[in-house]
Amino acid sequence: MIDYHEAIRKVREAAKPLDSREIALDCALGYVLSRDLVSKFAQPPFDRSPFDGYAFYAGDTKPAGVGEGVELEIVGTIPAGETSVTALQRGQAVRIFTGAMVPAGADAVAAQENVSVRKNKLNVLREYRPGENIVKAGEDIKAGRMFLRRGCLLGPSELGVAASQGFTSLPVYRKPVVAILSSGSELAEVGNKLGPGQIYNSNRHTLEALVRLAGGTPVYQGRLPDELDRLATGITRAFASADIVLTTGGVSVGDHDLIPAAAAMAGTKLLFHRVAMKPGTPLLAALYGEKLFFGLSGNPAACLVAFLQFVLPALKIMSGLVNWQHQWVEAVTGKPLEKCGNQNRFLSARTVWREGRFVAELALKQKPGVLSTLCTANSLIFLPAGGGPFSAGQTIRVQLFPEIFGNNPLFQTCNYFQPLARII
Ligand code: AMP
Ligand code: MG
Repeated sequence: MIDYHEAIRKVREAAKPLDSREIALDCALGYVLSRDLVSKFAQPPFDRSPFDGYAFYAGDTKPAGVGEGVELEIVGTIPAGETSVTALQRGQAVRIFTGAMVPAGADAVAAQENVSVRKNKLNVLREYRPGENIVKAGEDIKAGRMFLRRGCLLGPSELGVAASQGFTSLPVYRKPVVAILSSGSELAEVGNKLGPGQIYNSNRHTLEALVRLAGGTPVYQGRLPDELDRLATGITRAFASADIVLTTGGVSVGDHDLIPAAAAMAGTKLLFHRVAMKPGTPLLAALYGEKLFFGLSGNPAACLVAFLQFVLPALKIMSGLVNWQHQWVEAVTGKPLEKCGNQNRFLSARTVWREGRFVAELALKQKPGVLSTLCTANSLIFLPAGGGPFSAGQTIRVQLFPEIFGNNPLFQTCNYFQPLARII
């Protein structure tokens, strides 16, 4: 049995970013950039006005500080998107609108509410500094600078800056394709009537959802009975079209637990089998060339917890997020926590931000086969081997999974995301 932290280390080491390719800008959301991007030109490309007002030469307003104000002649109008053909002469001003290019000869802008206008005469009441109220070219991004780094997740801001630089496509890492194979002779697919001794194949749906939320593409490969040859062939076939293969069930040490033998027969190279943690002890991880195999427990909660601990980091790293880490925070126990044990344990919990700290409370039933409990959870409490019991108010460590549990309507009212941003 391998230590939990050692197992994580092995998986992280084995996972490598996939190949990269060019993808259209409007399809790039959620991908990871595979090359640094350097700006081709300054953004904005020209000096511009930050608001509606008047542009002029600041030196002309020098006398305004002492006397009545300075009168300038308004000689034209520049709306956004247009440019002035002639340079401004001394003593002249031009009507200018937000985002419009400041004409040659002008080096200051006055907001329209701070000046008065009579016919074509502008009255400026105070002296303006050279450069005042002018957004300089390159305020956002200077020319020739790296503005997006390889390995960054492409979200709204990243896509926006790439667009501001005129990129129509971006170099990204391919997203992992994750094959899901269910094993167990007792499984039936939803939509069919349950026979005696059968249960529905719920793990398939849990795993497909997890893979999607984690940014991968799930491909369901079907359900196999507990038969060695068919499992081995199923695994080999799944690798033909996937970067990660997941199986559920049959990975313990019972007579019908054939996944370890099947994975070996399929040609995978064992990283570890069985991890010192609960739930999810019966986990197998193996390499298939550069690809990864995970044999997850059939027990639904164990399957989900093992995915969060091991498959999630592998998937993120293969997507190009090489520094991806579990989101650990310190929390206090909301209620006494009687659990303790000789093994690291993950307990499904509800964690909220209350009065300046995270407070974590255990969800009701903690059993590897009980999935419904996780519907009321948004986090996992980590109970280290030999730790516990804890009284209320003691500090514990918690893993948050905002992208996995964030949609739970139970928590929409809690102040959950705000403090998270601060901790990161
Ligand atoms: P196993 O890991 O094969 O020993 O299965 C452990 C428990 O999980 C058993 O009660 C199985 O019936 C159940 N189980 C196995 N596979 C699935 C699945 N795909 N969906 C739901 N439950 C499952
Ligand atoms: Mg089984």
